[in-house]
Formats: sequence, C-alpha cells, structure tokens
Amino acid sequence: MPLFICTACGTQYPDSAAPPAQCLICEEERQYVPPRGQTWTTLDALRIGHANNCREYETGLIGIGTQPQFAIGQRALLVRTPGGNVLWDCISLLDTATVTVIEGLGGIKAIAISHPHFYTAMVEWAHAFDCPIHLHSADKQWVMRPDAAIKHWDGETLELWDGVTLVRCGGHFEGGTVLHWAGGAQGRSVVCSGDILTVATDRKWLSFMRSYPNFIPLSARAVTGIGEALKPFAFEAIYGHYFDRVIARHGKQVLESSIARYIAAIEGKRGY
Ligand SMILES: [Zn+2]
Ligand SMILES: [Zn+2]
Repeated sequence: MPLFICTACGTQYPDSAAPPAQCLICEEERQYVPPRGQTWTTLDALRIGHANNCREYETGLIGIGTQPQFAIGQRALLVRTPGGNVLWDCISLLDTATVTVIEGLGGIKAIAISHPHFYTAMVEWAHAFDCPIHLHSADKQWVMRPDAAIKHWDGETLELWDGVTLVRCGGHFEGGTVLHWAGGAQGRSVVCSGDILTVATDRKWLSFMRSYPNFIPLSARAVTGIGEALKPFAFEAIYGHYFDRVIARHGKQVLESSIARYIAAIEGKRGY
C-alpha cells in the first residue's frame, strides 16, 4: 500500500489504501490547507518530476534541497564531522542519486530535526541510512509515521559528537530545536536554525513566530526563552531553512539584537 505525502507540508503518513482524510499538520493553526484543498502524492510520483541538488556552504556543511520546490520548500543540511555525519532537518524527496551522493560522503550517522513541519519523510531517510532520528519529546504528538528509528530526547540540550549539540529553544513549537556545531565557520561555530530562529529576507536579522503563514507572533517570554537557551553558546554563522537564508557573520550579536527588536515591537516601544 502507498505511503501518502501531503503536498502542502511534505509530511509522509503510514501506508494506507486511500489517502488520509486530512493532514493533521496542515489542519493545525501553524500551517494551512491550500485553496485547492488537500492533495496527496507519493515518493514514487515525486521522483518523476523532482530531483535534489546540493550546495556546499563551507567545509563540512552541505545543503540538500528539492527542485522544483516542493511543499514548504526547506532544504536540509548535512553536517560532516570525523565521527560521522548528521542530517539536520529533512525533506520529502529521497532518491537513488541522493543516497549515492550521501553514501559517498560517508552516509548519515543520525538525523536531527528542528520541529514537526520538517519531519517530512524522515523515516525513509532513517531506513535508507540505517540511522536514528533525534526529535524533542515535547513534539511527540506531531509524529505522523511512528517508527523504531525515532528516538525522543528530553531536557534542554542533547550532545551528539564532535561538538554537535541539539539545543531546545521552544517558540515556534514547544520542542523547537536548533543545532550548534562548534566546528563550523572554521571553529567559530555555527547554528543551524530551521525556522526556530528564522533568517529574515534581508539576511541581517532574525525573527520568531508561532505561525509564519498565518502571522501568529510569539510572546516576549517565549522569545526571551530562545535567547536564554542559546546563552551558553557562541556562534558566527546562522543557517536558516532555505538555501539563501544565511547570516555569515556575527551570528550571536544578530540573535541578541533581533530579540531586542522583536520585544520592542510587540511591546510597542521605540517607535513601533
Ligand atoms: Zn500537510
Ligand atoms: Zn515551521
């Protein structure tokens, strides 16, 4: 039986004779059902008209995204370390070319995902590379295709290896997580942020929302909490969730000033 994939958010569901009646991720207030209504595809169908491409941002950090754009349109990141590669965030399309390329780069030792909008076809990726998926347990209810590869973690941080640490920031989702890699930016460290810290269109600022498509802001308390979670970490670059959303320098200062700007705006200060 096919495993249907929601065309609006890219989430893959367990095998079923007919498509699910609804996508629970898209029905929730942070996502949306498009005007055309709920539609579904499968991995086989997706492979016919789509392919993945790669971009090396810096040594050890490769973006992987689907062309033409599918569903939310995020790209994943392959973080390469001597101890093994981490796939950060996930995309729906996995094909033989992608597996061959990633195997050539040493495979994937673990998958970690910022939040449920990017869970997509994570189980396909975990099976292809025989690796675990680390998800924060606060978002357990949003796993649509349960699998033994999924390992839920609790608490505020999870250290993987070689300076790779998952940091729970909350905000957009209760278990919203970013990845801090001490070896990135030539040892000055990077944060892979998904849309937990969203790199704004100008690539000079970050923003933070409960829902991006439906314009639901976060509270000052939630945004302050994101800053608190990242307080112990220094970092130079921030890699957002689209290919072109990168803040190359002064990432920590950008986070601090972006939090201050956000709070000033929602509290009506400083001319807002
Ligand atoms: Zn959906
Ligand atoms: Zn999201």
